[in-house]
Amino acid sequence: MAETDPYRNKREEMVEFQIRDRGVRDERVLAAIRKVPRHVFVPENWERAAYEDRPLPIGEGQTISQPYIVAVMTEQLDLSAQDRVLEIGTGSGYQAALLAELAGTVISVERLPDIAARARENLARAGVTGVRIVVGDGTKGYPPEAPYDAVIVTAASPEIPKPLVKQLAEGGRLIAPVGPRECQDLIKLVKREGRVEKIPLGGVCFVPLIGQFGWKGESSL
Ligand code: SAH
Repeated sequence: MAETDPYRNKREEMVEFQIRDRGVRDERVLAAIRKVPRHVFVPENWERAAYEDRPLPIGEGQTISQPYIVAVMTEQLDLSAQDRVLEIGTGSGYQAALLAELAGTVISVERLPDIAARARENLARAGVTGVRIVVGDGTKGYPPEAPYDAVIVTAASPEIPKPLVKQLAEGGRLIAPVGPRECQDLIKLVKREGRVEKIPLGGVCFVPLIGQFGWKGESSL
């Protein structure tokens, strides 16, 4: 695919100027971003904007995050090849594709069935195997496959959903945007000897995480 990929140069520029220059230096993460064809994960009419320095709409009011934010979150998860990872908020499937490059097992939970179906198509078109998408309320985590070495939440909630902390393995890392409806703090938790260390990573703006341990639902959904 790489030789015939018309976006290869754009993707390389994205990695250098949007991501590496801003401080993401983990070579495994940069290699994964260089490899995964982001344009395959955005709606066709947005394809030419896929490598721009911004989030993009993916339908149903949801977004694929800005490349730099995806890179920071991925780097902070500190993944090893054997790790078991849980993502909450599959969206386009792009983040999940990166996780699959870096970890052993990837489970991604998406609340909206149509979004989940499109993510499965996107992953197939990108040739990514090794992501399992589950439709459901990810604020409850996914107990059947717990514990997880890493948990990444890609929608924002007023507090970190407690089940996700519970499903984190010893030594596990969790990244989540936490705070008010519009914009939030990106928070990293590390579980050590049963205790949880909390590290703030900076300001972000994510769509809401809607569910039992997140924001309460919208009437139309
Ligand atoms: N990681 C995605 C972007 C996610 S956008 C990507 O790489 O494209 C946030 C997603 O979270 C949306 O698709 C939204 O439907 C989903 N979401 C919101 N609340 C959720 C919940 N409780 N459980 C699972 N997914 C949820």
